[in-house]
Amino acid sequence: MPYNTLAYSLYKSIWAGLDLVFPPVCGGCEKIGSRWCEECQQRVQVLRGTLCEVCGLPLEGANICNSCLADKPHFRALRAWAVYDDPVKKALHKLKYRRDIALGDALAKYMAPFVRGLDWHIDMIIPIPLGRQRYKDRGYNQVGMIARPLSLALGVRFAPKILIRRKETRTQVGLTRQERLENVREAFEVGTEARGKSILVLDDVSTTGATLSSSAKALYSSGAKDVFALTVARALPHHDLRQV
Ligand SMILES: [Zn+2]
Ligand SMILES: [Zn+2]
Repeated sequence: MPYNTLAYSLYKSIWAGLDLVFPPVCGGCEKIGSRWCEECQQRVQVLRGTLCEVCGLPLEGANICNSCLADKPHFRALRAWAVYDDPVKKALHKLKYRRDIALGDALAKYMAPFVRGLDWHIDMIIPIPLGRQRYKDRGYNQVGMIARPLSLALGVRFAPKILIRRKETRTQVGLTRQERLENVREAFEVGTEARGKSILVLDDVSTTGATLSSSAKALYSSGAKDVFALTVARALPHHDLRQV
């Protein structure tokens, strides 16, 4: 056997051996065999019924929800692939805190047809950036881990450097809508490459869309043509949805 062929066979068998020792585990249910299993995919909850044209929240008897009417977000539309609940919630947690970065690719594969179905014309995908310190602590931006394979699947540019987080914002958890808006106000700055472009801004989870709205405002003021917003998941309150 020529040396190269032998070396390649060895290389392949080493990887096969590694796969045997460390087989991929599902990010939603820990089952061994794949990073995102078919059963978990079947359990993904989609947002059903009529959605607010702007922010994508389920609502009844109107096209636009009360909070968008009162204070219209800056993005053209926000949509989410799934409701923020298991198994997606668990997978996002693993991606963010347990360095299970291969999950980004597994989720992007399923998100791509959803984004195509929205029929948005987009030139590039920008992941919501982390602040410098948080990026340093975590070592990676979990949203970028989804945005990059999603860009590849959709055949559009992955542009992680255009949007910069100017200030470190505290977590939005537990804040009211007004506090969230205040927390992320003027949080971003934008490079010149946004000019004239249709942009999709991606985040992992949204509640009121305040962070995405703030990023859209910054992108528009730098000359972006259109800004659409997408999240992997949308946290839904359990009380009256129209009050969000
Ligand atoms: Zn699973
Ligand atoms: Zn709305």
